[in-house]
Amino acid sequence: MAPMPDAPKRPCCICRCWFRPDPRIGSRQRACGKPECQTACRRKKQQAWRQRHPDYFIARRIQDRAKEDRRPEPLRLPLPLSQLPWDIAQDQFGVQGADFIGALGTLLLRAAQSQFEAYVPDTAGLPDTLPTPTAQSQTRPVRESVRVGTGNEAGVSSTGSAL
Ligand SMILES: [Zn+2]
Repeated sequence: MAPMPDAPKRPCCICRCWFRPDPRIGSRQRACGKPECQTACRRKKQQAWRQRHPDYFIARRIQDRAKEDRRPEPLRLPLPLSQLPWDIAQDQFGVQGADFIGALGTLLLRAAQSQFEAYVPDTAGLPDTLPTPTAQSQTRPVRESVRVGTGNEAGVSSTGSAL
């Protein structure tokens, strides 16, 4: 058997030093033989793959959680999504359904936030039509505007007896 021709030397994708690829791997070897370069190169490839397939990891996480014997805690989601009763979502849609809705909400929230960050508002040119919320109005207790009990103001009985 003829010996394999040596692959030409090439620069390591991490440390840039020139190395001769392992003939069994050939041109697919992108990092030199140093363990730290091998690890860094593997991590770089995984990261690139993850960026190209974001749905894979969301799907895997949802499927793993649905496989657990006991019902997992609802996903910990950022505000304002965390204000929703996710245990009810789990009851109604199942663990997978609730996780999917949570993942959907998180994606939309991130997209909205990145839009918001890209937009720098020019507040100087805006007409002042909206009341500016003040600290006072935020701390003021909410008054009950609906009176319960008498039911006579509009001639409607609160008991609803129309008979
Ligand atoms: Zn290297």
